[in-house]
Parts: sequence; C-alpha cells; structure tokens
Amino acid sequence: MSLVIALDGPSGSGKSTVGRHLARVHGLGYLDTGAMFRAAAWYCHDRGIDLTDADAVTAAVAALPLEQDLDPDSTRVAVDGVDVTDAIRTTEISTHVSKVATNLGVRAELKARQRAIIAREATADGWSGGRGIVAEGRDITTVVAPDADVRVLLVARAEARLARRALELHGTADAGAIEATRDQVLRRDADDSTVSQFHAAADGVVTLDSSHLSLPETLAAAERIVAE
Ligand code: C5P
Repeated sequence: MSLVIALDGPSGSGKSTVGRHLARVHGLGYLDTGAMFRAAAWYCHDRGIDLTDADAVTAAVAALPLEQDLDPDSTRVAVDGVDVTDAIRTTEISTHVSKVATNLGVRAELKARQRAIIAREATADGWSGGRGIVAEGRDITTVVAPDADVRVLLVARAEARLARRALELHGTADAGAIEATRDQVLRRDADDSTVSQFHAAADGVVTLDSSHLSLPETLAAAERIVAE
C-alpha cells in the first residue's frame, strides 16, 4: 500500500525539513514543488523572457526540460541537463519567483506534472518503488493532491520563520540577520498571497503550528500526525 503525504506552508515554516524527514522515515519519494516554480523562473529569466509576459512565460514553461531527484537526501534540480540546484536559490530568483507562480498557465502546467509524479510514485515504476511520496508546497493539500492520505499545513509566527530563514541564509539569527531576511520573506508572503489557493486550511487538513516547538518536537509532532 502506498502512502501519499501532502504538506503545505509558507516560507520558513519548516516544510522542507519536515517533508524530507517524513520521506526518510517512511521510505518515500520527496517532491519539492517550490523548486519546480523556482526552476521555471530561472529558465524564463535565463532565456531573457519578461516574467510579467504571461503568454510567453506559459509557453516557455510548457516546454520546461526539468529533472528533479525524488530522493529526500538529494536536492538536485537540472534544467536541460544544467545543474541549477544552487542557481534557483539565489535572492534574485527568490525575489522574482512569485511573478511566475501567480501565472495561471504555469500553475496548470506544473500541477499536471506534480500529479503525474505523485501518481507514478504510487506504482512500482516510481523512484520509491511504489511506497509513495511526500509532496510539499503551497497548494498540495488543496489543489494538487486533495485526496492524499495525510494532509498537513505547517504554520509558524512570522518572527519564528524569519529567525529560521536568517539562520539558513546568514548562519546566525541575530537582529541584523533577521532584518536582512525580513523583506525577502514578508514580501514573498505578500506576493504569494494573491494566489487564492494558499489561503484556507481545507477541511481534513491538520494544522501544525511550530512557532513554539524545537525542531525535534516539530518532527515528532509531524510523525504523530502521520501515525494517527
Ligand atoms: O517553497 P519555496 O519557498 O521554495 O517556493 C518558492 C515559491 O514557489 C513560492 O514563494 C511560491 O511563489 C511558489 N510556489 C507555489 N506553489 C507551490 C510551491 C511553491 O506557487 N506549490
């Protein structure tokens, strides 16, 4: 029997750490859908396409030659054979990714790809050999995989998310690092908030608030939700 876990949450909510952990514990594949939107933004930017030109961006992303490892211990993403694992995480891409992510043509294309990957992981042909997958993003519990076996919305107060992102990007969560991160995280929250699917925790979705939890406590809470 395969297991599909859908995990959503805003930037800095810990969904990538929780998702990889759950995939390792259960021997599942792991799909980072944010990396797909980032790769789409990188590809259009690299080809000199104006990211606000909805039709040109949609056409480019329809042909996006994307390869993504489903191994939770790998973050490798390649576009047309070029390793873009680091290139899609730059401040520049983080700043512009919402322009691509709010394009409805892009969302439709990536949703179809995400659904195909999730369906494949439930069969012996998939990376996981049919054990299943953890898919994480912003609209997985609501739009991409509303019928997943387990659906979790990870949330955390803005200050907690800022501190985590600062630690990740600057190696420290002192006041300076938090300020340097504030604009990036909060502006992306605001940009992403125009995508209507991100708003509500749908019926049947369990909310996990990690604002006051340590990482081990958050992982343990996520494991309990899966076990229930
Ligand atoms: O998760 P991450 O921060 O890497 O996501 C990057 C961006 O991709 C988000 O800010 C959002 O604009 C977009 N995204 C999305 N739908 C998803 C996952 C990510 O629109 N399922």
